Amino acid sequence: MVKMKNIVRSLFFTRDASDDELRRLIDSEHFDPLFERANEVRHLHFGDDVYLRGLIEFSNYCKNDCFYCGLRASNRSAVRYRLTHDEILQCCDEGYRLGFRTFVLQSGEDPSFKDEDICQIVHSIKTKYPDCAVTLSIGEKSYNSYLAYFQAGADRYLLRHETASDEHYRSLHPQNMDPVHRKECLRNLKKIGYQVGSGFMVGTPGQTLDNLVQDLRFLQELEPHMIGIGPFIPHGETPFAHEAQGSLQRTLNLVAILRLMFPQALIPATTALGTIDPRGRELGLQAGANVVMPNLSPVRVRKLYTPYENKICTGEEAAQCRRCLERRLESVGLHSVVSRGDYPGVRR
Ligand code: SAH
Repeated sequence: MVKMKNIVRSLFFTRDASDDELRRLIDSEHFDPLFERANEVRHLHFGDDVYLRGLIEFSNYCKNDCFYCGLRASNRSAVRYRLTHDEILQCCDEGYRLGFRTFVLQSGEDPSFKDEDICQIVHSIKTKYPDCAVTLSIGEKSYNSYLAYFQAGADRYLLRHETASDEHYRSLHPQNMDPVHRKECLRNLKKIGYQVGSGFMVGTPGQTLDNLVQDLRFLQELEPHMIGIGPFIPHGETPFAHEAQGSLQRTLNLVAILRLMFPQALIPATTALGTIDPRGRELGLQAGANVVMPNLSPVRVRKLYTPYENKICTGEEAAQCRRCLERRLESVGLHSVVSRGDYPGVRR
C-alpha cells in the first residue's frame, strides 16, 4: 500500500490523488505531514497574509426548508428580522473604517428582497466604496437575476453546493430542492464572470467518505475561486436536532486537502469551525485556510442569524471582533491585510 506521506507528496506535486488515496487522507488522524505541506503551499502563494471579509447577515427570513438549517421556513420559533437598505450601508461604513475591503451580504432566501432591491443595495455600496468588493450569498436565483446583480456591481457570489451526491442532497433537503439546479446556478455564476465560492458541510447525517470524495471531484470540475467548508452542527428546531456534529479532525483534513488541490483558492477558517472548538479557526488557518469572515451585522440581530446553535461572536461590536481576530491571527504567526483579496490574477 502507498505510504500516506507519499500520497501527500504526490497531491502536492500533481494536485490530485486517486479516490482511495483521498479517502485515506480524509479519514486520517493528526497526520502532520498533510498540514505541514498545506501550510507550505498557503505560504508560497499568500505569505503570512489573511484576507478579511466583513459579513453582513441582512435577513434571516427563508422560503426554503433545508433539514439541517435553523433558518428553515418551518422553524416557527425563529425570531425573524431584515435590515433596511440604510442599515446595511451603515454596516459597510463601520466596516470600511475598520479596514474591511470586502463586504459579504448573506441572507436566507427572502423573497421580499426583489432583484431591484438587491441591485440598489449593491449599487449604493459600490458607489460609496468603489475600492471594495461586494460578495452576495443569497441562494439560488435565475441566470437573469445573477446577471442583474453582476451588472449592478457585485463581484463575487458564495453558494455552497452542500453535497455533490444527488442522493445525499435529497436526504438533506425537501423534494422541491433540486441538486441539479444548485449546480446549474454555480455554473451560471461562473459563466457570468463572478468570482465564485462553493463548498460543503462536513459530517451531515448520512455522509460517507465517498460523498466527500465526490465533493472534491465536483470542485475540481467547477474550479471555484473560493471554497468554504465547515462542520455540520445540529440545530434544536430542525429534523436533525439529535444528529451528531461533524468532526473537527475531518474538517481540518479536508481544509488541508483543498489547499493542496487548489493552491490559489481563497479558503475561509469558518465560524462553524470556531464554534465546535475554541481554537477551531486558528487550526483551520494552520491547515491552509487564508480568509476569516468577522461579523459586521448589528449586535441586536446577531443572535438571530443562526443556521446552527451556539454560534460564536454574537455578542460583540464589530470593532471588538476585529481586534479579537487580529490577536488570533498573530497567535499563529499570521496577519490580516487591508485589501480586496481577489483570486490571484482575477479582477474586473
Ligand atoms: N441562503 C444562502 C445562505 C445559507 S446559510 C444560501 O443558500 O447559500 C450559509 C451556509 O451555512 C449554508 O450554505 C450551509 O452550508 C451552512 N449551514 C446551514 N446550516 C448549518 C448547520 N446546521 N451546521 C453547519 N453549517 C450550516
